[in-house]
Amino acid sequence: MSFDLVIRGGTVVDGSGLGGYRADVGIVGDRIALVGRIKERGAREIDADGLVVTPGFIDAHTHMDAQIFWDRQGANSCWHGVTTVVMGNCGFTLAPVQSDARALVVRNLERAEDMDPAVLAAGIEWSWETFPEYLDTIDQLPKAINYASNIGHSALRTWAMGDRAFTDAATPDDLALMTGQLDAALRAGAIGFTTSQSQHHETSDDRPVPSRLADWREVRALAQTMSDFGAGIYEGVDLPLDDAADDADRERLRWERTRELTVDLGVPFTEGLLATNPGGLDRLAIYDRIASEGGRMIGQAHCRGINVLLSFLTRLPFDALDEWQDIRALPHAEQQRVLRDPSAREKLVDAAMRGDYTKWRGIGAMPRKPDWDGIRVYERGLPPNPTLNELAVARNTTPADVMIDLALDTDFEQLFIQPSLYPQDHDVLMKVLRHPRTVMTFSDSGAHMSQICDSSIHTHLLGYWVREQGEFTLEEAVRMITLAPALAWGFADRGLLREGMAADVNVLDPDVVAPSVPRIVRDLPAGGKRLEQRAVGFHTTVVGGEVTLVDAEPTGALPGALIRNRIAAPPADVR
Ligand SMILES: [Zn+2]
Repeated sequence: MSFDLVIRGGTVVDGSGLGGYRADVGIVGDRIALVGRIKERGAREIDADGLVVTPGFIDAHTHMDAQIFWDRQGANSCWHGVTTVVMGNCGFTLAPVQSDARALVVRNLERAEDMDPAVLAAGIEWSWETFPEYLDTIDQLPKAINYASNIGHSALRTWAMGDRAFTDAATPDDLALMTGQLDAALRAGAIGFTTSQSQHHETSDDRPVPSRLADWREVRALAQTMSDFGAGIYEGVDLPLDDAADDADRERLRWERTRELTVDLGVPFTEGLLATNPGGLDRLAIYDRIASEGGRMIGQAHCRGINVLLSFLTRLPFDALDEWQDIRALPHAEQQRVLRDPSAREKLVDAAMRGDYTKWRGIGAMPRKPDWDGIRVYERGLPPNPTLNELAVARNTTPADVMIDLALDTDFEQLFIQPSLYPQDHDVLMKVLRHPRTVMTFSDSGAHMSQICDSSIHTHLLGYWVREQGEFTLEEAVRMITLAPALAWGFADRGLLREGMAADVNVLDPDVVAPSVPRIVRDLPAGGKRLEQRAVGFHTTVVGGEVTLVDAEPTGALPGALIRNRIAAPPADVR
């Protein structure tokens, strides 16, 4: 047998969760041809001695729908071993879209996912109206990682109803349009349907996003379309419950509707799962109960807690204060000059420490009233990082002064970590990550680009929970981010290092692997800002048999594919 690529002498951690073993991995074309001892030399060889060889990681919760148009590499996910992403979550997609109503679709993304309309306008060449046309566009784009896409409810509703999507219930005609387009999207290869009832999902003009206007009748009809098609996963934040009489009735309806969706209609249901106490455990119990009745639910766990990053270059809690607003509107050099003026600074520090933060409305990733014991200075890629209060005590000053000093010392580059709105409980998190109906995903990669940087949760898992804390074996952790998402999202030929599977592979050093400290870069279309976060410990990443990264540097290869669902694109052996 002749191999195009042989990854030689590494420890194969194959994604199954079973023990790692020393073996060579031989690749022919875009497939793994052999895992074992290989005598022949490959056309290309990678020396993996002392390193670990894993399947490429799969991230099922991203919002890379827009970014894919200007970023061929797939940052930041690509730096963290991720070779396949699912985009179009939470109801937000760029298709379907009426060609005269693109602004409405952009409005859905603007606040809910913090995507700047100027960046989207400059970065996207709109050439589609329907969802199948969008998938064909994605298929053609040069890309270094693989993408699968959901169809989003808010886009679907806006396409069918125009401006009424933001205010009205769907008429029977609206519903017929939506179910017809959903069916067409699934036939073309959409991996699932996504929606949201979350209060955090609102438009830039303070209105709920369209999916929140949907009643159960509408969602039930769309789920019926998925059930009739026979493939696809339903992703959503809660279900419509506005018709409930009271809280007890809400709970009853939530259960009945979850059961109807998953058991009666047989549609798998996935949701973000926050490891709060007791909320996280309650959700695990629901997944088990649904499973015992014959349905399927999958929780999307996050292994770090969703943190918003603050900085003087992006956003600060003080931005909401009257005393700070004029100064924050100045160019950076001017702001620094004011902050170096002792009397001006004293007033600003006083406002920061004692100001009126009531303007914060509690929506999404907006900065909020500073919690000085919670905000940490981003010094290391893995915890621990010191809190502002800890540094303030050590320096005998106020936490606001610490923040200003660090910002001035770094030309405003210093990042601060605002703690999650939904604090994780350690014991709950461990139960969540160990539970058989969860997947470690939920990076939101591609959204909140200047505020949240969770594309690194995969390397956080390997560096922190495996190496530094010893909570999981490397094999267990790799399974959570390879085979587990592959099985849940129906990627039949990914997530395992095994003969016949897609040749998406990482070669990494488990003694080193970790996220780096993020930094702010200004390379988005129209000069927009984003957080860049790389990782250490990756030797090589292979996508579809081609080497895409060596020592964390792109090779220029763009082998990424669009992955369509199993009915639209059945695996080769059943075609
Ligand atoms: Zn999301």
